[in-house]
Amino acid sequence: MSDVYAVWDEYWKELQDELWDLALQARKTGLSEIKAETIEEEDTIDTDRDTGQVTQHRKYSLSLKGHALKENGWEFCISIDHVPSGDIVFRLPGATAIDIEPYLLSSNPYCDHCRSEHGRIATFVLRNKNGLEVRVGWTCIQAFLRYGNYDRLLSRLRYVRRVLYIVANATMMGPGRGKTL
Ligand SMILES: [Zn+2]
Repeated sequence: MSDVYAVWDEYWKELQDELWDLALQARKTGLSEIKAETIEEEDTIDTDRDTGQVTQHRKYSLSLKGHALKENGWEFCISIDHVPSGDIVFRLPGATAIDIEPYLLSSNPYCDHCRSEHGRIATFVLRNKNGLEVRVGWTCIQAFLRYGNYDRLLSRLRYVRRVLYIVANATMMGPGRGKTL
């Protein structure tokens, strides 16, 4: 199961264009694409009490499809951004749907690798095949995974996070003016 994002029609087209641009860049660098799939469309009809004007708004429910990111026996499941207003927690497309609740509640940017909470911009929740979950800071990933081709992994993480951000931004937009019927 992956997260479902709701986007109103006025932003859906814009979002598709942005995702398309990102996917093109990703493909050029050999990264596998993340796709937004429509899983449901819902129409709502509003009538303005004063003018009697009838408008229609369409809402799309989207799910992001992509390959889970796995390196050296660890799967990247959740991305957590530590910003002054609180944590922003995303499940990564294609990843095992682990329980997100404990990470929504915790606001400490703790890293299981260096065992510290020093100021960091993001941490990731990784899971191994035995179900063990660890949180690793952005800057400790290379050391934790003992990973050689770190640049490629970094590109992939940046791409995934960029996709999640633009989709999340689109979900925050209101229904707009809608279509006059
Ligand atoms: Zn660390």
